[in-house]
Amino acid sequence: MKAGYRFKKVKMECNKHIALIAHDNKKDNLLGWVMENKDKLSKHFLYGTGTTATLISEKAGLPVRPFKSGPLGGDQQIGARIAEGKIDFMIFFWDPLEAQPHDPDVKALLRIGVLYDIPIATNYSTADFLLASPLMEKEYYRKVVDSDDRVRERKDQFGE
Ligand code: PGA
Repeated sequence: MKAGYRFKKVKMECNKHIALIAHDNKKDNLLGWVMENKDKLSKHFLYGTGTTATLISEKAGLPVRPFKSGPLGGDQQIGARIAEGKIDFMIFFWDPLEAQPHDPDVKALLRIGVLYDIPIATNYSTADFLLASPLMEKEYYRKVVDSDDRVRERKDQFGE
């Protein structure tokens, strides 16, 4: 990305909007983490790709809004919500040992998460450290590329 983009601050409320996603070989891992952290997670709004969300709702008894299954577009739905500012936190246990049919979507989701400066945990210990952060209970301002500014600058490059 070109240097010099302006950033704007985007407020995260005390109650975070957390996406939970796990590839098949990691679902038990994520479910175990959720069970261990049920009380803390119950203070936040939870979302997930289809199978992950359903498993967590049923086994942990937490309300998780399901999107489509990851390989069927769920990752992209979550990415879109991140871009819209509706999801601002992600626990994504992706599988480093198995190729995924929706690998481009996985990469896109991680890219969007980084671009929008949301906290992302991709393994158990990072998820532990994130959830233990005092910032979980506080308001926080993310630093996000100002898209209006970027559009203005790009338009000037192409205009008459
Ligand atoms: P799933 O999708 O929760 O529907 O299994 C996860 C993924 O593979 O992205």
